[in-house]
Amino acid sequence: MSCSRLNFRLEAQATGSRARAASFRTLHNEVQTPLFMPVGTQATVKAQATQSLEDAGSQILLANTYHLLLRPGPEVFRRLGGIHEFMSWKRSVLTDSGGFQIFSLPHSRSMSEEGAAFQSYLDGRTILLSPELSIETQRAIGSDIMMALDQCIPSTAENSAARAALGITHRWALRSLAARGDSPQALFGIVQGALFKELRRESAESLCGMPFDGFAIGGLAVGESRSEREDVCEFTAELLPRDKPRYLMGVGTPLDILEAVHRGVDMFDCIIPTQVAQRGGVFTSRGFLQLRRGIYKFSEAPLDPLCGCPTCARYSRAYLHHLTKTGETLGWQLLGQHNIYFYHALMREIRQSILEDRFLELYREKRAVLHIEDLDNPVRQPKPGKKKLYKLGAYEVHTAPEGFASIRHIASGEIMHSRTPPIEEARRLYVEQSRLVERIGNSEIAEPLVVWDVGLGAAANAMAAIHAYEKQALTGPVRPMRLISFENDLDALKLARVNNNLFPYVRHAGPDAILKKGEWQSPVHAGLNWTLLAGDFLETMSQALELPDVIFYDMFSSKTDGDHWTPEAFRRLFAVCGGGAAELFTYTCSTAIRAGLLSAGFHVAKGRSTGEKLETTIALTPAARLSAAPCPHEILGCDWLEKWKRSGAKFPLGIEEDQRSAFERAILGHPQFRAV
Ligand SMILES: [Zn+2]
Repeated sequence: MSCSRLNFRLEAQATGSRARAASFRTLHNEVQTPLFMPVGTQATVKAQATQSLEDAGSQILLANTYHLLLRPGPEVFRRLGGIHEFMSWKRSVLTDSGGFQIFSLPHSRSMSEEGAAFQSYLDGRTILLSPELSIETQRAIGSDIMMALDQCIPSTAENSAARAALGITHRWALRSLAARGDSPQALFGIVQGALFKELRRESAESLCGMPFDGFAIGGLAVGESRSEREDVCEFTAELLPRDKPRYLMGVGTPLDILEAVHRGVDMFDCIIPTQVAQRGGVFTSRGFLQLRRGIYKFSEAPLDPLCGCPTCARYSRAYLHHLTKTGETLGWQLLGQHNIYFYHALMREIRQSILEDRFLELYREKRAVLHIEDLDNPVRQPKPGKKKLYKLGAYEVHTAPEGFASIRHIASGEIMHSRTPPIEEARRLYVEQSRLVERIGNSEIAEPLVVWDVGLGAAANAMAAIHAYEKQALTGPVRPMRLISFENDLDALKLARVNNNLFPYVRHAGPDAILKKGEWQSPVHAGLNWTLLAGDFLETMSQALELPDVIFYDMFSSKTDGDHWTPEAFRRLFAVCGGGAAELFTYTCSTAIRAGLLSAGFHVAKGRSTGEKLETTIALTPAARLSAAPCPHEILGCDWLEKWKRSGAKFPLGIEEDQRSAFERAILGHPQFRAV
């Protein structure tokens, strides 16, 4: 048999993310990834006819071997021509191994090397589910993709238990492959290892040596925290072969899926869309709605104004609210239809953005709305009687699901430091990367270190720099530091000040003085001084009295604030640096923006990852590049240049058609690439 039965083709890989788009061919249809598989436990996706699944764009359905083994039993599938004929479904089916359900049974199961024995809930007889019986049942069901039986353990299991489970899982993997024989059905192996990275690595290595057609990441979404899951998912996906599909079992909400696509996963399944529908919940482009709420009693609007599904085309929120309140099956069916449609539409949108290499942009955009609960009719009202200012001018306070607060630009929806607490991201991305502590620790230099904080915002970056200075000054003599912040709108900082319980880092004399007088001199450290240059950075940059050693470039993104990301803006900044040694740090990793920095004369290097991006960007003036040898940063090399040449988004904003060839020459001839 060929090494893969799926003819997997990787079609695109996103920039600045591990997201990928691919196609493969099953026994029934051509499948495009990333994709979501609705769960049809009993050979039916609950309350959905196969016709509406086809219409919604379902490509693969998941069916549960454990349930189908007990009822209707494999003989029914053998006689009636498999599950496709049985349920009238012409596209693909993936069957799980049955293991997960057995391991979830509270009683009446026992484990051995041979398999998992359990008692049928129907007639009480004992069944030994071995790898061979699992495959035999899946062959009878006739799925396109089968899963190898594995020993599932909770993600929070201890190392020794996880290791023992791994050994059994690998021996069962070999037995499953042998049992598959020359069946044309594809078979996936399942990587286990709980939260232990060395076990995940060991598991991936042994399974990848076996002739599986794809790999699943198992044992997640069962008790670990969100960040643990994302971390292990990213780590494990990276260990899997590029040329096989990757499947994260049992995940998840739209946001979970978006995050996992970003981390390199192709396939997902989850009962959530139909399960929440049964309880009146729907995912929409305006957040998650609970239809039971009385607020919809008179609402003539569709569930989701942007959705093209049959439910949204035909029914009002008021009617769906009524069906939900009365517990009518039709409500479950219609809401489920919408949710499945919503999931598939999201996956198609994600896929398209990967093919057009703008996934990261879509990721930011989606992440900002997918976790929101009912944007138009927020559930949590501010407490009455306790007046608090959460909105000011163009900004409002945003609270992340993890509990920390950030400032959101209302018109664009863009959030300053949306992923990690603002002060943590500021520390990681700006203070640590610029080696600020090392620079100020060198007290033999009398010249002040000059830091330009471009885009003061709510002052997270500025305060991270000040905290670092104050901490270092406690340990001994330090070099003076001048912090110069550029900002045209102080409302974000004012908002953070008013809500300083949510933004504890602004509880400091500095922000007060900056808001009142535009400058602050530390009363404790004579060398520490902070000034504000109010106005548009493109105008004010030439008014700064001191040229920068370090630049924190933290403006709103090019979508919200295009002017500050053009090659022209970078040329002016480069000119202002006047041959000095300056290093610029910014959160973006956009190919076009990096090209813009190169065209302005900067050398460009990769910056470290943030919670949200695998890379950020560092730009150095030629003098900065020369002054530090060896360069502490990873300068972009010819591989980046090749990628840029092929990129669909190689030209930054502000480069007109007739300027393109000159721009191209400037990039191709940049000294940074000659030096390699
Ligand atoms: Zn809809």
